[in-house]
Amino acid sequence: MKCIRCSETAVYRRVYSGELLCATCFSSSIVMKVAKTISQYSMIEYGDAIAVGVSGGKDSLTLLYILNILSKKHNNRLIAITIDEGISNYREESLAIASEFSKALGVEHRIFSYKELFNNTLDEMLIIRDTNSLKLSSCSICGTFRRRALDIAASKVDADVLATAHNLDDYVQTFFMNVFAGDIDRIGFMHPKPIRYARGLRKIKPLISIYENEIIFYAMINNIPFQADQCPYMNESIRNDIRRFLNSLEKEHAGIKYNMFNSILKISEMIKGNEKHKKCNICNMDSSMDICSACKMKMLVTKI
Ligand SMILES: [Zn+2]
Ligand SMILES: [Zn+2]
Repeated sequence: MKCIRCSETAVYRRVYSGELLCATCFSSSIVMKVAKTISQYSMIEYGDAIAVGVSGGKDSLTLLYILNILSKKHNNRLIAITIDEGISNYREESLAIASEFSKALGVEHRIFSYKELFNNTLDEMLIIRDTNSLKLSSCSICGTFRRRALDIAASKVDADVLATAHNLDDYVQTFFMNVFAGDIDRIGFMHPKPIRYARGLRKIKPLISIYENEIIFYAMINNIPFQADQCPYMNESIRNDIRRFLNSLEKEHAGIKYNMFNSILKISEMIKGNEKHKKCNICNMDSSMDICSACKMKMLVTKI
């Protein structure tokens, strides 16, 4: 079978569009899609310093790789940022992958840890949670601190933009999680055009138009190494249930996730602007409430 763009041997069939693509044309289609998302939503400007959250998984290393290709044309400085949550026997491997891969690309790499930023590792926080019998999932604790850690890290490296690697599957799952939680404000926040916060940092997700399985294939054919092990604490059961549900729908109806993605763009466009913007009374960071979720979480699961 031949590639529909250049007549080389095809290695990939894009199920939802029927396209047959060779490795080169598949890779350039992904880079083009990412570039289109970036320009469509004015995510990055000429000369911006871009902090890229790099966990060591397939999505974040692929994001770093693609931004490294695109940034050369637009005079953007990249800084890879890895957050070390403090998860024994798991984070060590991905830290090494993230640091070696950044080095190979010639990108500066910085590590920030929960221990230094919040006084406790995630392992320690989970012991505090269990000692106090708190009903909090490890992912909700970790996610709250990871978002805050990335904000702090981006400002410490003087970044204009913080890029994270959420893919189309993550994006659609998050939408359903917000709907099921009754959290309509958060759907407004999902709109991809970055909000300009007071201190100037824009948060962007350049991979939201790319299917997760296409990121895996892109990483494979471009020899991007990644940590395949899942986090030992991964137990966010609702997200897993939604992932399974969406994957089974996609199997029967190719392209349904992409249609959903396009619907979310329109829905979030209608809702955005209604979000509340305040400053946290404790840490003075942007928050939709008087006390931000990171400060609330700190009171529950950290010891100072
Ligand atoms: Zn081709
Ligand atoms: Zn706060």
